Order: sequence, then structure tokens, then C-alpha cells
Amino acid sequence: MPGAGVHLAGAGPGHLVRMAGVLDDAEVARVLVITAHPDDVDFGAAGTIARWTDAGIEVTYCVVTYGDAGGYDEDFPRADVPALRRAEQVAAAKCVGVHDVRFLGYPDGRVEATLDLRRDLARVIRQVRPDRLVCPSPERNYAAIGVSHPDHRAVGSAALDAVYPDARNPFAFPELRDREGLAAWKVREVWISGSPMPTHFVDVTGTFGRKIAALRAHVSQTGHMDDLEERIRTRLSRAAQTAGLPEGRLAESFQVLETP
Ligand SMILES: [Zn+2]
Repeated sequence: MPGAGVHLAGAGPGHLVRMAGVLDDAEVARVLVITAHPDDVDFGAAGTIARWTDAGIEVTYCVVTYGDAGGYDEDFPRADVPALRRAEQVAAAKCVGVHDVRFLGYPDGRVEATLDLRRDLARVIRQVRPDRLVCPSPERNYAAIGVSHPDHRAVGSAALDAVYPDARNPFAFPELRDREGLAAWKVREVWISGSPMPTHFVDVTGTFGRKIAALRAHVSQTGHMDDLEERIRTRLSRAAQTAGLPEGRLAESFQVLETP
């Protein structure tokens, strides 16, 4: 299909090799997206998410914080920020066909990859039973400081630990099984968003407008950005170029891990 994903792997720029290894979307019934803050998924992956929901895949968002340290308006009452950002993320999700948005309520700016967070993420994985999981990178990306927010790295680390071993090992966090009746679940594939080593590129030219609408739904974060669309277009054009897509195409990038 034109505009499908391009998979690349290799030693670095100039040494890219096409390879198979990404699940066919037709084999994917459910996707769970784990992020640190409201708006992370929209900056990193909303164009891809729109393609998935268009294809009939059920997508759930799990946002670890309410983004209560976010915003730019110093006169806005801080106590009202969590509810506002929660509502913004729910509205943004609708723009790309996502209607199940869950929040864990951890404090924004102070997330650590604790056992509690791993258990809470393993719980959501066992509840949603996704074939594919999207999460932030636990690694620092020196080329993009904003992508490497400490909360993103902590959530990425805890999410990968929740995929393996916590969610799939019935004896990890036994209370999930014994008290909550949640059976072990094996996620087949993980897509890391914001990775310093992307291996997979999704052509999102056709869903770019909905990605921008989703980003615009985060009024407290993007309301002041007159150049938002241009900024995002430039970033996605660069990714499309790296993927070898034709001029004028836009792409989102991921590092895809098989986790069978
Ligand atoms: Zn963030």
C-alpha cells in the first residue's frame, strides 16, 4: 500500500538496510500507548495512531501524569492545570480516533522508574492486552533535548520493564493476579517513540492534518505557537528523507523491538 511503513536498520546514517520484522497491522487488534505527559503522543505518534484507528485497530492511551507542571500562562490557577490538561488530551485523542484515555496521576516532573510504576503499567498492560505497545525512549537523545525529558526516560524504562518481565510473568506482582484477577500478558512488539536510533518510519502525510488538530487541542501547550504546523512539518519531512520517502512526504519515526 502506498505510504506504508519503511523499516530500516544498520550501523548508522549511510548504512541503512531495509529489513522485515514489523508486525503487519492486520495482525494487530489492540495498541497501548504509554506516555509521561498529555501531548507527548501527539508530538511523537499521532499521525501513526490515526492510521491505525482508520484500519480498525483499537488504541488506548495511558498517561502517567496529568502534566501538572506544564503550561505557559503564569496567571492560570495551578490547581486547575491537571483537569485542563486531562481534558485537552481526551479531546486530542478524539482527533485521531482514540476514545480510551487513562491517567495514572503521578506528579509531573518527578517520575521515577519505581516498582510501583512498573506494577501500575503492568496492570494496564494486563487489562488492555495489547499486541503492540508504544512508549518513550529510556535513552537520552543528545540531538533532541526536549524528547529526553527525565519523565519520558523514566516512563520508557518502566514501560519496557513492565513489558518484560512484569506483565508476562504470572509470578511478578502476584497481587495483580491474586487480588485483581489479571492474567499474565505478552506484548508482541514495542515501538519506541523519540528513540535516538529509529529503525521504522511511518508515512503520515495523509493524517498530518489530524495530527496538527490533535496538537492544537492542547491549547495550554501549543496555543502560543504560531509556527506549530511549520515546525512539525519540518521535523517530519526530515524523518521522511531519512527513510528515503519521496519529496514532500512526512514521516514519524520509531525504534521497533520484537518482544515475543
Ligand atoms: Zn512530555
